[in-house]
Amino acid sequence: MKVTYRTKDGQFTTQLESETETGLVEQLVDFQNLLEKNTVCGSCKSPEVFWNIRENDAGKYFEKKCNKCFAAMPYHVNKDKVKKGGLYFSYKDKWAKYDPSVKKTEDDAKVFTEEKPAAKGKK
Ligand SMILES: [Zn+2]
Repeated sequence: MKVTYRTKDGQFTTQLESETETGLVEQLVDFQNLLEKNTVCGSCKSPEVFWNIRENDAGKYFEKKCNKCFAAMPYHVNKDKVKKGGLYFSYKDKWAKYDPSVKKTEDDAKVFTEEKPAAKGKK
């Protein structure tokens, strides 16, 4: 079955297609997590939130970032065996502003390769 889905704000549209309802829901959840969650800054409540990518020697870091106060919500990259190229956030993640006094390189690297905790029982 095919479904055309538009985000609540009307900004994005996607085509979902699967032979099963579970397959459709998986695609829908991914799309909603990507484009319909964390659309308001958790720090200052501004709706001026955009995708951002930071890069350093350890890799790329995907985040949603507030254009007003610059707080960011990190998204993690799925391991290939879970979902190649997938992005997710977990409910323990919080909007935070960059603090140059905190050396986070090791934590960032760990977060960058962290496995999706919600993957259990997904199928
Ligand atoms: Zn903000």
